[in-house]
Amino acid sequence: MTLRFGVIGTGAIGREHMKRIENKLSGGKIVAVTDVNQEAAKQVVTQMKLEADVYPDDRSLVAADNVDAVLVTSWGPAHEANVLGAIEAEKYVFVEKPLATTAEGCMKIIEAEMNHGKRLVQVGFMRRYDKGYVQLKKAIDDHFIGEPLMVRCAHRNPEVGESYTDDMAIHDTLIHELDVLHWLIDDEYESVSVSFPKKTKHALPHLRDPRVVTLETKGGVLITAEVFVNCKYGYDIQCEVIGEEGIASLPEVDSISFRKRATLGTNILMDWKQRFIEAYDVELQHFIDSIKQSGEPSGPNAWDGYVAAITVDAALKASNSWQKQFISLKEKPAFYSVKKENSHEAML
Ligand code: NAP
Repeated sequence: MTLRFGVIGTGAIGREHMKRIENKLSGGKIVAVTDVNQEAAKQVVTQMKLEADVYPDDRSLVAADNVDAVLVTSWGPAHEANVLGAIEAEKYVFVEKPLATTAEGCMKIIEAEMNHGKRLVQVGFMRRYDKGYVQLKKAIDDHFIGEPLMVRCAHRNPEVGESYTDDMAIHDTLIHELDVLHWLIDDEYESVSVSFPKKTKHALPHLRDPRVVTLETKGGVLITAEVFVNCKYGYDIQCEVIGEEGIASLPEVDSISFRKRATLGTNILMDWKQRFIEAYDVELQHFIDSIKQSGEPSGPNAWDGYVAAITVDAALKASNSWQKQFISLKEKPAFYSVKKENSHEAML
């Protein structure tokens, strides 16, 4: 069986995902596309030589009989309506982050999915599929470093443009750490505070950069996450977990080491797209495979999207008030409890 995708939003990541579904992955095919810019949608179909119909809007696309799954890669504020429309049409959905831009929006999706009665939605938190994070999680789950006590991580980009707002440091950049860290240590966030060291001269006037986000978990683990989006030297993701018996760190990206002109060195990526390129492949392949095998996606779910949204809101408040904010989640429905045999770690 081939999973037939309809794509909402044919911008940058939409095209990347369409290419991987058509050319790299197995078991998926693009049969429908739409974009608010209809010309762009038509152009993608022609350029990629797709056998796909162009629809005038998301409603008509999700209703198409030949669409089994909807790939939502429109801009963030449209995700909630796109996902709710797909659930209403009883279609599977792979939605890029964020699930919705508000916690209320995420709850509406959760309620719609639970009313449907089985899981339809997977959120594009691809770091959970990165080999390095999977190894780190295994080391923690196997108690290789004992109980985790502290986590130190960093999300650094060489630079950002004028359109990158101060809040984007949290809802666009930090959101990946917010998702992967609670998954990694299997704990819930309790509070968040944000502090701002001396500002780099490379940041534009409207942006506070760098910043350090401190998260406390219910289990007492202290996490510090640096977000530094004009670090100049490269795209660099760091994560170190300090446990009772030792320390485990995210592996460095594979690269030759070199000795040249009195230097022992190794290259650092500059382009963020390259860093998680394999993880993007694995997450979408897993979406396709788990639907085929069990009739439901089993990757990051709508509850994970809600946890990220609540924590983003608190971190934004903390950034703007300079005060610690407490994070209060609703009770997790049993519907979203992970079945270990279906979890993606078991499939990697
Ligand atoms: P983008 O290049 O701006 O693409 C978004 C596309 O969707 C644009 O063509 C836009 O049209 C279109 N669009 C907007 N609203 C729509 C709607 N209601 N219906 C149909 N099409 C609509 O943005 P992007 O970089 O691809 O990002 C898309 C999403 O992916 C964002 O939520 C972003 O956060 C997420 N993302 C995730 C990752 C990751 O690492 N997981 C990486 C990159 C992006 P116009 O241009 O005409 O507005």
